[in-house]
Amino acid sequence: MPVTTEPRMYLNGKIVDYADCKVHAFSSAVKYGAGVFEGLRGYWNDQAKQLYVFRLREHMERLRFGLKAMRYADIPPLAELERAIVEVSRANNIRATAHFRLIAFLDGDDELATVGPTGVVAGAVVRGSSPRIESGMTAMISSYTRIADNAMPPRVKCTANYVNNRAAELEARAAGYDGALMLTQEGKLSEASGACCFLVRNGKLITPDLASDILESITRETVIELARTTLGLTVEERRIDRSELVAADEMFACGSGWEVIPIVSVGRIDVGAGKPGPVTRAVQKAYFDVVHGRTNQHAGWLTPVW
Ligand code: PMP
Repeated sequence: MPVTTEPRMYLNGKIVDYADCKVHAFSSAVKYGAGVFEGLRGYWNDQAKQLYVFRLREHMERLRFGLKAMRYADIPPLAELERAIVEVSRANNIRATAHFRLIAFLDGDDELATVGPTGVVAGAVVRGSSPRIESGMTAMISSYTRIADNAMPPRVKCTANYVNNRAAELEARAAGYDGALMLTQEGKLSEASGACCFLVRNGKLITPDLASDILESITRETVIELARTTLGLTVEERRIDRSELVAADEMFACGSGWEVIPIVSVGRIDVGAGKPGPVTRAVQKAYFDVVHGRTNQHAGWLTPVW
């Protein structure tokens, strides 16, 4: 089912109607997939009557890094990018949990070496958690290898990169799975089609390290921090063999959109007992408490809209 984007959007400094939020069909964004984007969430806290955007600054810093890596001539200031998300929330009077997307794209009609001008678009979809947060998801190991850092760096959240993720996701769905896990060119675990992954073994969290061709996920970093501090768990960041997935007691995927989703089987082999496990449940609780602003800890990660 298509998503329902809220009727007011942000385009190049202005709030515009959805129907008027257009770029030229010959822009480099369309020709070459020259866009860098962010997906992030705002969480509604009914007690505080507040919408908290989660780690807005970190998302926009990552976007700016991506623009630098893509050699954009004009990198919008942090404050302007942050303001786009707050303005979209206010323009649509969002008082519910929502997912935001912001894309900084190359607006010029020119050849491969175009570096400007930079366009910025942002919109919102009011959307709560997936039911898979409770039930967990099934996954397959994709036959598509994760793109490599020296070809199309996964660290850069560039729109063109997602040809790789889409191939994996579509293959998984066609095969009857909920989602896909991808391996690096060396055959080590990389990430899911739109999220990072964690294994739980003997009470310890294990996740692919940052050189495993993954996005430097903000949720991954959040989970590592909460696991170590709030939950007192050991976290290892390292290379992970494919066979270690079979040895894991639990697995979960995490991302701003996916949140923390248990992975209950991989390639029809149960992960542990084949259902969401206690460590995953503890990570979910710690995560949802923080993002909703139900704890005083990490208030600096929340940007209030109202
Ligand atoms: N990996 C990929 C490929 C993604 O698209 C995402 C979603 N942005 C993630 C990981 C998770 O990143 P984050 O926690 O920053 O949303």
